[in-house]
Amino acid sequence: MAVSPVFLNPVDQAARWAQKSSLWPMVFGLACCSIEMMALVISRYDIARFGAEAFRATPRQADLLIVPGRVSVKMAPVIKQLYAQMPDPKWVMAMGACASSGGVFNNYAVVQGVDRILPVDVYVPGCPPTPEAVLHGFIKLQEKIQKNDPQAGLPMVKAHA
Ligand code: SF4
Repeated sequence: MAVSPVFLNPVDQAARWAQKSSLWPMVFGLACCSIEMMALVISRYDIARFGAEAFRATPRQADLLIVPGRVSVKMAPVIKQLYAQMPDPKWVMAMGACASSGGVFNNYAVVQGVDRILPVDVYVPGCPPTPEAVLHGFIKLQEKIQKNDPQAGLPMVKAHA
């Protein structure tokens, strides 16, 4: 059960600071948004400034699932399995219009938002979102982790660049 930030002791706060400052995203791409996600690690955007440059090639070492692109119905069970293999605590970012709502793909083959199958913590709008927008989403997620948001695991934070 989540605790109000007012009652967090220094140890809790330190633990949350460590968690938010060392997010390990999973190497995972679905569609065109993935190209923008890759740009996060280059020197121009330098996601290392946020402690999140250690992209992991296995879900068992990752605590952040960035969903970059449209989720096909065929791919949905695979994504759910990858999420299940990630250790707790873990977070999900819906990157782009397609991951957030299906985008322009309003048809039977595309899941109309990844929050239909996973608990999304932060949404990043755009088609595709710029790397700056994704970094803004990171900051929003870090704020959520630091505050021990009682809604963690539920869709509520919208990132706007
Ligand atoms: S939001 Fe745009 S760029 Fe991203 S996967 Fe959908 S169509 Fe491609």
